[in-house]
Amino acid sequence: MFNREMQKLGEERSVIRELFEYGNERKRLLGEENVFDFSLGNPSVPAPACVGGEIARLLAEVPPERLHGYTSAPGLPEARRAIADHLRAIGGRADPGLVYLTCGASASLTIALHALCNAGDEVIVIAPFFPEYRIFIEGAGAKLVSVKADETFHLDLQAIGRAINGRTKAVIVNSPNNPTGAVYGEEELSALASVLRAAGKVRGEPVYLLADEPYRELTYGSKAPCISALYEHTVVCYSFSKSLSLPGERIGYIAVSPSCAGAEALFAAVAGAGRRLGFVCAPALFQRVVMKCLGRTADLEAYRQNRDLLYGALTQYGYECVPPEGAFYLFVKSPQPDAKAFSERAKKYELLLVPSDSFGIGGYVRISYCVARETIERSLSAFQKLIGEYRG
Ligand code: PLP
Repeated sequence: MFNREMQKLGEERSVIRELFEYGNERKRLLGEENVFDFSLGNPSVPAPACVGGEIARLLAEVPPERLHGYTSAPGLPEARRAIADHLRAIGGRADPGLVYLTCGASASLTIALHALCNAGDEVIVIAPFFPEYRIFIEGAGAKLVSVKADETFHLDLQAIGRAINGRTKAVIVNSPNNPTGAVYGEEELSALASVLRAAGKVRGEPVYLLADEPYRELTYGSKAPCISALYEHTVVCYSFSKSLSLPGERIGYIAVSPSCAGAEALFAAVAGAGRRLGFVCAPALFQRVVMKCLGRTADLEAYRQNRDLLYGALTQYGYECVPPEGAFYLFVKSPQPDAKAFSERAKKYELLLVPSDSFGIGGYVRISYCVARETIERSLSAFQKLIGEYRG
């Protein structure tokens, strides 16, 4: 008999995918422009020109057998060097020998968790959290421990401190955050580092920090601080999916901080986990592309304009939400306690909003505003009618 757990995972589509498929069906029936699909975090702005330019140059100049051949498992030496230089240039700690290119943040997290965790270990996540964390953590044989963020969706340090015990292997932080848009400040992260250091001392081994950073550059106020500079036992899990609008190309990296306890052994475990999981190497063409586009981004101004328009209009209509400081999501309080029921009601107006339950807390919906501006403009009267139902 085949693996029932995998069958179950394959059969139960995520709530987000479910809504997305529902939206596609509605679009077929009603026309694209009449459905307001805010379900997926699929970047709506094109990749920056440097991406296409670099692909064209590589195709013209590099012989195909070199361009498309296997690379060494951790990635091309020149790509690893470029990434480490970039991380150091933005204030982080990095070493080319400890950089491992991956197929995006999902692969970075899966590999890093497999490298770190033994059966029975615990990994702390901050709720609300990216729903796939549960699959990645449990797949690595560990247990997800959810700690609620505070009311502004920032870190509740006391609660994190209380959740750490002898089995805690790591804490995952995701800033800028999906689904809340929170960006953790330097003081906040330094305070988290102090909590982890103190816990590490008591345990006699460190609690690692996994910095899940696919939205690193997507901030609307201050920049996201470099976590590896603030806490020595940091493993950065990065992706170019959002910054360069390349989610389908599957490219990212893991950077184990040189200051991590057992950094080289941990990096060997990363390589072992990549091997065990069958990744072989990250896409060769895109390793070459991203190493030339480090620090560049797609047009993030479009997201800022979407955020301002949507946040301004929704709060004016009476919706409650914390202003997002980064990423491209608005996390809105459901006007009824049952967010799933609210999301169902929103469908009446062709509004596709993701209920927050799968993010580990109830009572909210997530709106992905990485969509065309016209979609937001056309959706506003629907949002207004929807909240009107609760006033009446
Ligand atoms: N982590 C978070 C917080 C995300 O929002 C996403 C994707 O939306 C990922 C990881 C996975 O990113 P990737 O597409 O690079 O695998």
